[in-house]
Amino acid sequence: MTPAPTLPLLGFAAWSGTGKTTLLEQLIPLLTGRGLRIGVLKHAHHDFDIDQPGKDSYRLRKAGAQQMMVASRRRHARITETTHGETELAEADFRQLLASFDQTELDLLLVEGFKHEHFPKIELHRAEIGKPLLFPEDRDIIALASDQPAETTLPQLDINDLEAIADFVCSWFDGCQTREQEAGNGFLSVEAARNAILAALTPSTACSDKPLPECHGAVLAADLISPINVPPHANSAMDGIGLRSDDLAAGRWQLVGEVLAGQQRHEPVLAGQAVQIMTGAPLPPGVDTVVMREETHIEGEWVTVTAPVRAGQNVRQAGEDLAKGAVAIPAGTRLAAPQLGLAASLGLGSLPVRTPLKVALFSTGDEVQAPGELLAPGHIFDSNRFTLMALIRAAGCEVMDLGIIPDDKAILRQQLEQAAASADLVLSSGGVSVGNADFIKLVLAELGQIDFWRIQMRPGRPLAFGKLGQTPFFGLPGNPVAAMVCFLQFVEPAIARLQGKLWQPLRLSALADEKMKSRPGRTEFLRGIFHQDGNGQLRVRTTGPQGSGILSSMADANCLIEIVPAQSGIAVGERVWIHPLQGRLA
Ligand code: AMP
Ligand code: MG
Repeated sequence: MTPAPTLPLLGFAAWSGTGKTTLLEQLIPLLTGRGLRIGVLKHAHHDFDIDQPGKDSYRLRKAGAQQMMVASRRRHARITETTHGETELAEADFRQLLASFDQTELDLLLVEGFKHEHFPKIELHRAEIGKPLLFPEDRDIIALASDQPAETTLPQLDINDLEAIADFVCSWFDGCQTREQEAGNGFLSVEAARNAILAALTPSTACSDKPLPECHGAVLAADLISPINVPPHANSAMDGIGLRSDDLAAGRWQLVGEVLAGQQRHEPVLAGQAVQIMTGAPLPPGVDTVVMREETHIEGEWVTVTAPVRAGQNVRQAGEDLAKGAVAIPAGTRLAAPQLGLAASLGLGSLPVRTPLKVALFSTGDEVQAPGELLAPGHIFDSNRFTLMALIRAAGCEVMDLGIIPDDKAILRQQLEQAAASADLVLSSGGVSVGNADFIKLVLAELGQIDFWRIQMRPGRPLAFGKLGQTPFFGLPGNPVAAMVCFLQFVEPAIARLQGKLWQPLRLSALADEKMKSRPGRTEFLRGIFHQDGNGQLRVRTTGPQGSGILSSMADANCLIEIVPAQSGIAVGERVWIHPLQGRLA
């Protein structure tokens, strides 16, 4: 999956004939002259070609290469065909195109065309073209470069004064940098926070052998090496007739026996002979080819075939599923239906699995009450503990439920110490935001090294992370949706790391069915419902109001929608990332 672009993007919008390319051609040297490393993305007519008939790369591409990369010491180019035979694939995805730039080597991306995509643009205008201004119809326009003054409050530039345009671009670029830094002041991006968390954790090594039926959901502690070949013998994939491939010319064979599954015939089948053989039956010596029964004709003890025969057809080779000595299941795999079946097919009655992590969980806050009690005025029920319990179990861990810890320093301290001593991970919710009663932070500071982060995301900005002694600790936000989103973004990967697994959740690209708001510079996680339309295209809408206390929005969702920091909202029909939740909440 391609990462989202993070570089500033600046577009140039104009009617055709205005001379966009000529202007860019003159502007780029002025910008590079001021130290900016420039990338350009240009939209072209649909059948453009940068390659020429007769060139080697052209010939290889025309021969059918879907992607053609031609490379030298000085430059390289990749030509990706988006047509497949007669069918035209979808228009190239703007974000994927942007993401394919090497952003570490660039400062600024200039974009020509892509007028339906939303990002800041300078409008270029020449009176002689005789067209109206695109502004204010196009709300992405931030400045106007024209040869004629216009009625607008936008900054106006002379289209023929390239130095002035370059000045404008540079000061706009500086503004972007400043805003980034301001936004980042004391804040961390989602990725930076996650990386810091993962870097602080080391996988636990506790493991034990468990009988196969108890291994469901556990994490395999060591590579499982196949002790045998599966299947153990070459066998028939069909009910039919077994033949020798060096004897196909005979055209007519004498049936000399029958082999059923579970039987073994040791007597060789000779030239001119065949056997009847059933699916799964081991091939007798000499036989290496099977003709399905429907393609044979038997008369008495003689058989002929009614369709062409390919040497070796309809045979499953010994070790074709798993070869002896090969890794059947890699260490770190969560054991589910296929893995359990695979282990059983190797004859293994027990497996070495990691001891499930113990996660201590508690809620904080004097206003929080356990469900089942009578609710005191001004109080709320503790929902977080129950969502988090389910999420912890869904991630394959055991829960140590410490209940609700009151706002009392001595009790909190004693409970935290105990939790840290007996659990592999401690989780709390509530009480970590900036305005909260300080004693939680005080107690945490006394017991360990805890950082209080403001993450550039919504919901879920406050997050505490650190260690109580040696035990990792997360202080999740109190807001129920924020607590869940933070769990999915930070605790789930942390648990995977402690379990020795790679955290690689599915992220897909979908078209937005509704307009979505977001502030640039932070990651927005909306609760969404995605589906596949009649053309196979994924589409997504939100679950409705997105307040971080609205837990019902989470209950209706089948995905999180991620609006990345570079996106200032999503228009209808625009592409957006979604994170399917299937299997992560159960
Ligand atoms: P806090 O992070 O403690 O400032 O809490 C933010 C919001 O979440 C407040 O409205 C709290 O009442 C609410 N909240 C805190 N803990 C819980 C909980 N365990 N269950 C449900 N809501 C909570
Ligand atoms: Mg955003």
